[in-house]
Amino acid sequence: MSYFSFELIHTSKKSRARVGRIHTPHGIIDTPNFVGVGTHGTLKTLDNSQVENIGLQLMFCNTYHLMLQPGTEIIRNAGGLHTFIQRNMPIITDSGGFQVFSLAYGSVADELKSKGTKKQDGMVIKITEDGVLFRSYRDGSKMLLTPETSIAAQKDLGADIMICFDELPPYHIDPSKLKTSLDRTHRWEKRSLEAHKQNPQNQALYAVIHGGVDPDLRRLSCEYLTTLDYDGFSIGGSLGKTKQEMHTMLSMVMPRLPCDKPNHLLGIGDLESIEMCVPLGIDTFDSSYPTRAARHAVLLTEKGNLKATQASNATNFGPIEEGCSCFTCQKFSLAYIHHLFKAKEMTALTLATIHNLHYMVSLMKRYRAKILNDEI
Ligand SMILES: [Zn+2]
Repeated sequence: MSYFSFELIHTSKKSRARVGRIHTPHGIIDTPNFVGVGTHGTLKTLDNSQVENIGLQLMFCNTYHLMLQPGTEIIRNAGGLHTFIQRNMPIITDSGGFQVFSLAYGSVADELKSKGTKKQDGMVIKITEDGVLFRSYRDGSKMLLTPETSIAAQKDLGADIMICFDELPPYHIDPSKLKTSLDRTHRWEKRSLEAHKQNPQNQALYAVIHGGVDPDLRRLSCEYLTTLDYDGFSIGGSLGKTKQEMHTMLSMVMPRLPCDKPNHLLGIGDLESIEMCVPLGIDTFDSSYPTRAARHAVLLTEKGNLKATQASNATNFGPIEEGCSCFTCQKFSLAYIHHLFKAKEMTALTLATIHNLHYMVSLMKRYRAKILNDEI
């Protein structure tokens, strides 16, 4: 297919780490790369021209949230998501399934804390073969999300990359139920592909590898989904309680994915996980970590995290990080950022977010250089 392809540039001699380029109708995504999360069509505190200036090549938007507000029909009538939010670079959307289920079950972290005792009746009313019936958290109305309606919503949005509709089973699930969930997810993913093929619209579709923490089911998921004609593969669901468990599972999953297609690790993109997963051959990571950290006055630097509000920063007239080429560091001192946070000015959040996002973009550039030199 000419509008979407993956070009493998180099695989490290030292690990499975690889450098590549994803070609999309809205430009190139150099991999491995970090994907910023703009849930409602904006990265919190920034407008999309600022995001493009930082050079963030891929932005993640959430179909579920955009379905509920403003509704995907409005976005379609506006000319699609790229036009509506004024972003000319690539966008990826998810299926909406993750939010429906995670609002019902809580996040994996919440659920681990509650040890599975959390009531699971949240917003989900019923899961059937057709899809999931849930209640909108905005107005309480009932909505049905199916593979077909999810793809139709993602067609309205028109992102460069879409994700198949899947079920996110809770971490605490008994093994037989996990198998039932996986089988149904596979049927939903196949239906997603069929719906997409009826009107490709220059969009790519990624499958989601599931199977929870069961290695056999993960293997089965890889085996089945790689027989179908997806443009790429994402890895979703619970990968374990610890980063080490995640690493073990991904070490088994990654060699089972085709080398000539891109892959994406869903919702994981903190610094430690990126460091652990780049050598496994992950191409893209999405996470709200750097933007959320910025709003909590945590600044990312090569020397580690820096708390902007720390008293000693009050008289530091240098930039957040010496040598950083971001807009914030070029213009403003750490003392000023410290002052803005202390004065509770919203500009503080914007300037910190610009720096942190720029940090991620530069970090991934450094990873790519290291892979090209076979250092990772
Ligand atoms: Zn900076």
